[in-house]
Order: sequence, then C-alpha cells, then structure tokens
Amino acid sequence: MTFSRNIDHLEASATIAVDSLAKQLQAEGRDIINLGAGEPDFPTPDWIGEAGIQAIREGKTRYTPAPGTPQLRKAIAADLQARSGREVDWNAVVVSNGAKQSLFNACFSLFGPGDEVLVASPYWTSYPQMVTLSRAEPVFVFGREDRGFRLTPQDLEVAATDRTRGLMICSPSNPSGGVYTLEELQAVARWARERGIWLLSDEIYRFINFTADGPAPGLMELAPGDVGPFVLVDGVSKAYAMTGWRIGFSYSPLELARKMSAFQSHTTSNPSAPSQEAALAAYSQLERSGADVRRMVEAFRRRRDLVTRLFDELLPGLPYVKPDGAFYLYFRVDSLFREGMADSSAVCTWLLEEAEIALVPGVAFGDDRYVRLSYATSDALLEEALARLTRAVGSR
Ligand code: PMP
Repeated sequence: MTFSRNIDHLEASATIAVDSLAKQLQAEGRDIINLGAGEPDFPTPDWIGEAGIQAIREGKTRYTPAPGTPQLRKAIAADLQARSGREVDWNAVVVSNGAKQSLFNACFSLFGPGDEVLVASPYWTSYPQMVTLSRAEPVFVFGREDRGFRLTPQDLEVAATDRTRGLMICSPSNPSGGVYTLEELQAVARWARERGIWLLSDEIYRFINFTADGPAPGLMELAPGDVGPFVLVDGVSKAYAMTGWRIGFSYSPLELARKMSAFQSHTTSNPSAPSQEAALAAYSQLERSGADVRRMVEAFRRRRDLVTRLFDELLPGLPYVKPDGAFYLYFRVDSLFREGMADSSAVCTWLLEEAEIALVPGVAFGDDRYVRLSYATSDALLEEALARLTRAVGSR
C-alpha cells in the first residue's frame, strides 16, 4: 500500500502508546502503576462539569462558529487583557479542540516545504510531528543540561539558519518540568523578534508552577516591544483538569487567527459546543476556578516534593531535572544500560515487566538517556512505585 508523502514521517504518539499498553496489562489483571499519563488525576471541578451538563439540557448541542462562541472568546480575551494590561481583540482568539489542535493549526498555517522550525528540546512529543506534517523540518535545540535545558539566545543562534521560520517553546515544560524566568523568556522572545521568526509559546502548564504563588511567566507578561510575531497557546486541559473536554485556544495576530479559523472550519468545524460552555464557566468565574487551581497545584507541589525526596534518598544513581512546574519528573536511566537494554524504550519495557510501573521513554521527547515519570497520582501509589523502582534497580 502506498500513502501520501504527507505522512512520510508520521509516528503514533509514544506517550499515548505507553498509556494504552499499561491499560491493556491492567485489564489483563496485572497490578500496573501507570505513571505514563499526561493528565491530572483530579476530576473536573463539579461546578464546571455542571455547566457542561446544563448546556446539553438547554440544547446547546449544535454547531457553533468555527473559532468558538463569541462569549467564550470574549471571556478568554478579557483574561489575557487583565494579565497584560493591554487591549486584546477577542477576534484574535481561536478556540479549538484542545491545545493540540491550536498548535497544529499554527504549524500548518505558518510553515511549509523548505522551512525550518526550531524546537526547544527535550520537546513535547507532538511538536516534531506537527512540523513534519506541515512538510517543514524540525531542528532540535537543546539547552544546557545543567540549566534544566532552558534555552538562551546563544543556544538558538547556533541552530538558526536563513531558512528558520519559527521557534516552539513550552514553559512549564513537558517533559522536563523546567520553567523560564521572566528574564529568560524575555531574552528568547527578543531573539525571535530580532530574527523575524514566529514564536509559538505553549503555555498549557502555566498554572502548574512551583517557582512562585501563581502562574509561570508567559508572553502576556512581557512588554509588547519584546515580542515579535507570536502564537500563544493555552487551554483548560491541565489547569482545570479537563483533558477529556477538548478545549484549547490560540491568541495570535488577527490575520493569522482568521487563517487558522478558516483551516479549522474545514477540518473539525468547531470545538465541542457543550465543552465550550463548561470552559466558559471556568474563564468567566476566575475567582472560583482559581481556588480549584490552587488546591490542585498544592497537591502537585506536595507530590513533586515527595518524589524528589524519595529519589534523593533511594535512587541517587538516577539524576533528574529539578521540576519547577507541570507534573513530570524527567530522569536519566543511561546508568542502567547494558547489553540488550541500551535505550530508554528497553528500560521502560523492562520496568513495566519487572517492576510493573509504566513510564514514558525519553526517546519520545528527543533524548534516549532519559525517561519521564508523571506524578499526577496519589501519594500512596507514588511511594509504592518508587519502592518498586528502587527494588528493580537494586536487583540488577
Ligand atoms: N502541549 C503540551 C506540552 C502537552 O503536554 C499537552 C497534553 N499532553 C498539550 C499541549 C495538549 O493539550 P490538549 O489536551 O489541550 O490538547
């Protein structure tokens, strides 16, 4: 069978693959602890869920405008405006079926054959796929390991060519948990502006930040003069524990927003109507949703402290990147490599069999020496998982 060149480089999402395998083994009766998932373990706050249910009851179950309902786009724009203190045109906000679709809309609308796109690495597994599906070329840029991989203009300068058209960054980062300071973000944004390239900033984990009380710095907190052409991507999935509702958004220059909206109108029409109503509840009652966010972030912070303490005590041979945000621990396993088990996938398969814990191989994020552990689960399961990991590592 031959397929289009469009999917020459297509690979299924490795994170979803691990999650599926773990679920399959669980279904077979194995006592697997799944630390592969990329989602909060909390339920969607009741009152937000109720708004979705209410919407269905009221018959809000039809098509909406392609870029989302005006009410939701206005509520998101008002929030962006409050953060930045400058005027935000709600027409420049495009709501989509998850942040993932917004990122794809942006890549597909901005990049094409012959273009290079810098991808901050380690990267979220879908970025390179989105770039290659747009027939452009991803160029991976790793910051220094001892800086938690956060990029500086010097790192970027080395990787840029005259074909560079964009830069994709993610802070707080999946998979490393790294968080850019405002100054670091400013330096990167200024570099992109001076280069005249698009800056795609994935801020989906913005709220899950341990460096301060409150969200991590994002593009809206920078002075307008610091930022050139940009696409900010965010959504409700992680902050409000709403991964299954599929609502994300982009904020970009109006001209691009119109293109992305047109593209979306031909691919998925519009984001789910009842889900938009639930998201509207979250964005229009920020005090209430903020209280839920604080409660969940406190739990993530406590688990981060627990996991890093246990790693320090039990697994000193496995160095990790200190996570300042999101809910992942990204740690090195190359000291476990031996004949027949010499990459991150082999280590993860071994740990799934031997220790019955599911982790995601670092190769999915561009670095085969690492694996990613999601600590979005209960303290008891985390303690049990780390005891299993310690036994497995010690038994070798
Ligand atoms: N960006 C990053 C960095 C993510 O980790 C995820 C979800 N795993 C997304 C975007 C996609 O979010 P959504 O579920 O809203 O599509």
